[in-house]
Amino acid sequence: MADGPGALEAFRKDVRTWLEANCPPSMRTPMPEDEVPWGGRNGRFKNPESKAWLDAMGAKGWTAPTWPAAYGGGGLTAAENAVLQDELRKIKARPPLFSFGLWMFGPVLLEYGNEEQKKRFLPGIVRGEIRWCQGYSEPGAGSDLAGLQTKCEDKGDHYLVNGQKVWTSYANEADWMFCLVRTDATVKHEGISFVLFDMTTPGVETRPILLISGSSPFCETFLTDVKVPKDQLVGRVNGGWEIAKRLLMYERQNISASGFGGAGGLTLDDIAVEYVGLENGKLADADLRARIAEHRMFDRAFGLTVRRATEEAKAGGDVGHMASMFKVAAATLNQQKSELTIEALGNRGLGWGGEGFDPRALKATRDWLRSKGNSIEGGTTEVNLNVIAKRVLGLRDHQ
Ligand SMILES: Cc1cc2nc3c(=O)[nH]c(=O)nc-3n(C[C@H](O)[C@H](O)[C@H](O)COP(=O)(O)OP(=O)(O)OC[C@H]3O[C@@H](n4cnc5c(N)ncnc54)[C@H](O)[C@@H]3O)c2cc1C
Repeated sequence: MADGPGALEAFRKDVRTWLEANCPPSMRTPMPEDEVPWGGRNGRFKNPESKAWLDAMGAKGWTAPTWPAAYGGGGLTAAENAVLQDELRKIKARPPLFSFGLWMFGPVLLEYGNEEQKKRFLPGIVRGEIRWCQGYSEPGAGSDLAGLQTKCEDKGDHYLVNGQKVWTSYANEADWMFCLVRTDATVKHEGISFVLFDMTTPGVETRPILLISGSSPFCETFLTDVKVPKDQLVGRVNGGWEIAKRLLMYERQNISASGFGGAGGLTLDDIAVEYVGLENGKLADADLRARIAEHRMFDRAFGLTVRRATEEAKAGGDVGHMASMFKVAAATLNQQKSELTIEALGNRGLGWGGEGFDPRALKATRDWLRSKGNSIEGGTTEVNLNVIAKRVLGLRDHQ
């Protein structure tokens, strides 16, 4: 604990020294898309320094700085974590780990899991050893998630799960799934439970879906007579909906905080300068210049608002439903940025492949197509607007 000004300064010095010794030089450069560190049993690390960086941060617990040290986390206070993040920003350190475990599952397990589950699952998340996927959506249950039908029967010494999930991001590369299942078909929200299982369990089958962007980041997941040990139920039987909603909140918060920013590449400004050109030190296209400036102002204001809300949340304020507001704004801003990028690229933004195109321009085109999903993933914009209307603005249902 180091919360007084003097103690925090001493902590900052220690952090700096540690980062100097442990953050490899290549981890202080923008991250190419094929070097995103997802970890997991079959984690691929094109750059060995990326693995060294993850191992060092994971051992220190700094991939999850504020999780308790007893579960592998860093055990830092909010003030210490702010110092750590500040120092990481200063050296432009890459995130050591991208992980649904860190962003979504870990936080709910800390709240709803029992002691044994926390000890069993959290350290593997912190160290990036186990990669998790999210088994929520089904062919007939997306926005109306509580309509899910994947059946989970109590077989005495275990549960038996049968059903189908869809749009399961990276299910084919994940080690474990956190999954919503139906344990009571006579009621809706009150008949849902939250279970965990290893993706190598017999009866789990994943089929990747090819997307408009040319990649296959998600799958159909088929569950046939999947045996789930009873100690892999989180919370109580039929008590899963509350956990599910909480997790969605973390998902939306995380999407907002990261602004859909993934791996590094050229920024909108870089592309505009390179492809549109400058006149008297300003972007040559006055109309595009004005719209980019407006976008940047909103983007900056959004970043500051998210930061303020994060501080309020840390101070115990209830900002839960604001996650929906932020998610809508983050999706809108990212889609706007992608549109402006394509516009700045002009006809170079129409390429799909081939040597005639700059690979960075090809990436921008694919990012633009990928951004279409931003207003769907983590709950659609329409559904989040409903949440905002009800929970933030206090409006009633229109009958
Ligand atoms: C990139 C990406 C990654 C994803 N990853 C995962 C994952 O890892 N795991 C997972 O479980 N799911 C994942 N999903 C699925 C995602 O959660 C669902 O697509 C989303 O919840 C919407 O459900 P749906 O596709 O069934 O659309 P539907 O629910 O069928 O909606 C269709 C349209 O109707 C609108 N609509 C529906 N209900 C209402 C309403 N009440 N009021 C107004 N409009 C409404 C929606 O806004 C939408 O435009 C992912 C999706 C994307 C795009």
